[in-house]
Amino acid sequence: MKIEIATLFPEMCESVLAESIIGRARKKGAVDIACRNIRDYTKDKHRRVDDTPYGGGMGMVMQADPIFNCYEAVCQEMGGKPHTIYMSPKGNVFTQKRAIELAALENILIICGHYEGVDQRVLDEIVDEEISIGDYVLTGGELPALVVADAVSRMCEGVLSDELCYQDESHFNGLLEYPQYTRPEEWHGVKVPEVLLSGHHKNIDDYRLKMSIEITKNRRPDMYENYIKSHEITDKT
Ligand code: SAM
Repeated sequence: MKIEIATLFPEMCESVLAESIIGRARKKGAVDIACRNIRDYTKDKHRRVDDTPYGGGMGMVMQADPIFNCYEAVCQEMGGKPHTIYMSPKGNVFTQKRAIELAALENILIICGHYEGVDQRVLDEIVDEEISIGDYVLTGGELPALVVADAVSRMCEGVLSDELCYQDESHFNGLLEYPQYTRPEEWHGVKVPEVLLSGHHKNIDDYRLKMSIEITKNRRPDMYENYIKSHEITDKT
């Protein structure tokens, strides 16, 4: 899969994408993520990409043209229209389910806004969906775009060592994950739960599922309700 991130701050994105699991996945070609500077697509001789808002008000608005030119260049290089996402606090809140769905697509373009946002006309013309990473406002779309690129990439084959790595994790099956422990067996007087040392896989699986359900019930009653509904479990506790 190919993800293009259109931003005014490509170095900011690159520095994150070069590290750790995603950095290694990019190097071995499991996922192709590239960053493009929207400023390279302005025709303004001073490389300007923003202007004051019509109607007045604070701040600057990113102009339609540089973003549209950037989009056209991406379309040309990809040989077609990518699924185009605008990161926005007005979008649908991002979920693990959406990450899995997006990972099935071939080409994605993520547009990062900055300042007061982007001229609505270009959004209306090229954007397929707006995604928010939560009900708060950041200074720019770069961190949100990186959140989406990371979550989507993890779902692509070859990025993690094994599919099992994510199938037990929070949100994959509508539950939060069970608690994790590593060496030493005893730390600050607290022992690792006995069952995890037993080597009995069935008992370990049962214990982990029980803990997952309990944690989800306590922390996210909304998720718990959905889980028991979808598994037709009666809550007897
Ligand atoms: N004026 C906009 C509003 O009130 O909806 C906020 C603009 S924000 C300061 C600048 C850019 O950051 C946005 O265009 C968007 O790309 C990005 N951004 C900020 N918060 C975000 C969030 N929660 N999710 C996704 N993108 C966000």
